[in-house]
Amino acid sequence: MSGIYIHIPFCKQACHYCDFHFSTQLQRKEEMVTMIITELENRKDYLPKRFTVQTIYFGGGTPSLLNEQEIESIVNAIHKHFSLDLLEFTLEANPDDLEADRLKTFKSLGVDRLSIGIQSFDEHVLRFYNRAHNAEESLKAINTAQKAGFEKLSIDLIYGFPHENHEIWKKDLNLGLMLNPGHISSYALTIEPKTAFGNWLKKGKLKEATEDFQAEQFEMLQEAMAASGYLQYEISNFGKEGQFAIHNTNYWMGLPYLGIGPSAHSFDGKSRGFNVASNALYIKTIKNGESPFQIDDLSKADLINEYILTSLRTIWGCSLEKLKNDFGVSLDEKEISELKNQGMISKKKEIIFLTDKGKLLADSIAASLFI
Ligand code: SF4
Repeated sequence: MSGIYIHIPFCKQACHYCDFHFSTQLQRKEEMVTMIITELENRKDYLPKRFTVQTIYFGGGTPSLLNEQEIESIVNAIHKHFSLDLLEFTLEANPDDLEADRLKTFKSLGVDRLSIGIQSFDEHVLRFYNRAHNAEESLKAINTAQKAGFEKLSIDLIYGFPHENHEIWKKDLNLGLMLNPGHISSYALTIEPKTAFGNWLKKGKLKEATEDFQAEQFEMLQEAMAASGYLQYEISNFGKEGQFAIHNTNYWMGLPYLGIGPSAHSFDGKSRGFNVASNALYIKTIKNGESPFQIDDLSKADLINEYILTSLRTIWGCSLEKLKNDFGVSLDEKEISELKNQGMISKKKEIIFLTDKGKLLADSIAASLFI
């Protein structure tokens, strides 16, 4: 099984916390679509032939900014160049792009899963984040998508907004759960240096939430999800039975994927690589008949550590047997026993898992196991 990721590098406006690759200059959107189609053709042999493409994921940026013809032409190119046996076709969308007729179009193009960037239902927070939508549009979008028959629906919520108490997060969680999407992704607000928030922080115009405050909200998230029947199948991802994201799960399982578009990453089963993270350079390179793709020079230790970090975050855990068979390494038994004694991990057969307590410190636990 393998997947195709298409990065649509445009947004209506820049959210103050976001450090993904995107541009708010939409003039070159049409040209970008043409280049994406060209890249799909140029890289049609990237994925190993024995893997059928079973997932498509349009991410960004804001894929819902594309019009019907643009999405259709990319989808047609995928069908033309790849052998597909589709299990899932996800499109990321913002609430302000989800009118009923657009949803109908997405469906007719094969999209069967929507990932909607809600982030918060609080007007003040949405304005602070510089989101392009308001809370009412979010509620309407989810409702319209459910009515349009999108059974696979995911919403994104951000926790850890700096505030004097947890009231906003409590309300966001309650409302999110009340709407009953099959899947919820939730990430802590992080302040990245090259963002508006990063700049405000440097100038002392923004105060970050403390680690404890964010940890309390993460625990509230875990409790609320469990109480409502969502499984935490990855640290930041919660799904009801049959609603886990197949495309993302395949990343975590180490299956191959082809990433198309500026800044997109790819993995062919052996090596990883990434495309240039600039719209202008991406277009220029492809127009010149060159490749925007560059192989990432990862050492064996990088690959092992990446597996430890990624697998530990999932419900399937980190397999000591896989480490032995695929990489020829064993983890430090003394470190494993110590983490077990501290209640941070559990071990069943030859697989280690983070406990709920351990999930709060996932990155540092993984780092302590790195080779
Ligand atoms: S959060 Fe999403 S919509 Fe906002 S700037 Fe980033 S990619 Fe664009």
